[in-house]
Amino acid sequence: MTRYQQSKQLLERAGKVLAGGVSSEFRKYNHPHALFYLSAKGSRIVDVDNNEYLDFTLSQGPMILGHSHPEVLEAVANYSVRGQLYAGQHLQELELAEKIAELIPSAERIRFCLDGSEAVQTALRVARAKTGKNKFLRFEGHYHGWLDNVAWGISAPDPEALGAVNDPVAFPWSQGIVPSTRDEFFICSWNNLKLLEEQLERHHHEIAAIITEPVMCNNGCIEPEDGFLKGMRKLCDQYGIALIFDEVITGFRLGLGGAQSFYNIVPDLSVFAKAMGSGYPISAIVGKYEWMELIEKSIVIHAGTMNSSCPMIAASLATLRVLERDNPYPQLFALGQRLMDGLRNAAKQSGQNLIVTGPGPMFVTAFGGGEMMRNYRDTLKTDRLKLSRFIAAMHDRNIRIIGRGLWYISAAHTEEDIDHAIKIATEVLSGL
Ligand code: PLP
Repeated sequence: MTRYQQSKQLLERAGKVLAGGVSSEFRKYNHPHALFYLSAKGSRIVDVDNNEYLDFTLSQGPMILGHSHPEVLEAVANYSVRGQLYAGQHLQELELAEKIAELIPSAERIRFCLDGSEAVQTALRVARAKTGKNKFLRFEGHYHGWLDNVAWGISAPDPEALGAVNDPVAFPWSQGIVPSTRDEFFICSWNNLKLLEEQLERHHHEIAAIITEPVMCNNGCIEPEDGFLKGMRKLCDQYGIALIFDEVITGFRLGLGGAQSFYNIVPDLSVFAKAMGSGYPISAIVGKYEWMELIEKSIVIHAGTMNSSCPMIAASLATLRVLERDNPYPQLFALGQRLMDGLRNAAKQSGQNLIVTGPGPMFVTAFGGGEMMRNYRDTLKTDRLKLSRFIAAMHDRNIRIIGRGLWYISAAHTEEDIDHAIKIATEVLSGL
């Protein structure tokens, strides 16, 4: 009998009907295998073996208010009894759009869709149509969803495999990805303005858009160095290229205005998902009028049967209402900082070479590979086996962290939660 026995049995049963026993690739890699859950509330989640975890995965980011926030649940219940999907407009959808236009600096026009992956594709389509150019530039290690033209550059086995920094190799994430989608993008190292300038000087006439996570959250949680986003903005203006911020993680997590307010750089187009919906399927593409007018005028087509369903809009409106009213952001930063400092201290005490990077509301822990991580190549130098051992040991002591070392803080976390996580990490690190 292990403490994961019920999950193990359900996983065996699931393996006969669900491919790999799961509904998303990432869910396979839980510890010690994919797990089944019973319930989640606030900062806690309970699995079918009745293990209760202090949850820092927050469902890969969306649960900014914590799980099962009562006002979100009430809004969804109240609104859903009046209908689920109208194939037409409704007042709450308009109110949500007005609220986003008020909060997000670049949001002169908005369209709602279901997830980050499709919102990214919409932004790229708008950029291609407006500029008459077909390619985009992306950064090594940034994740923009699982669809063919972006599922590259995130799965290198080691830094050497990436080749020369000024002539990078990009690997497809999966077999079955159309090989010619490699011709749709240029790839560049993050936080290196000089390299970006060189690439653009050579290829700007082919490039419709630069797409970037404003913080490189999916590998290393690395913040942009001073002047990097500003330089990117300037280059986009110079060459007539759309600057697309992929705010799927940073949106409503770094603040109500997203990374664009936090770093004070206004992109042309941006994409929001995760935290805007508290676990309901909603995303948005937003942008300046001169770009979004292509959708307005049906020059660019954006569609979707399920877009703006009543539950998702109600969930998002309630989430933004609570975020705006309660302003949990100072607390998210303070708790994140407390946890990061505590982990650094614990590592120091136990002589572990733990690296902790990120702005606070989300951050990453990694082992070795030098003091600093500036880009994807640096993250590949870290000791991933040791990280897995750390995460497994934390999990066995009921602290749940995302497998690649990413921690999310929610408005439901308390100082006691943070101090408890530090205490457990101190024990784990000393025995690692
Ligand atoms: N962009 C970023 C930065 C992400 O982190 C993700 C998902 O984690 C996506 C896009 C894709 O979003 P989704 O999983 O909702 O399709």
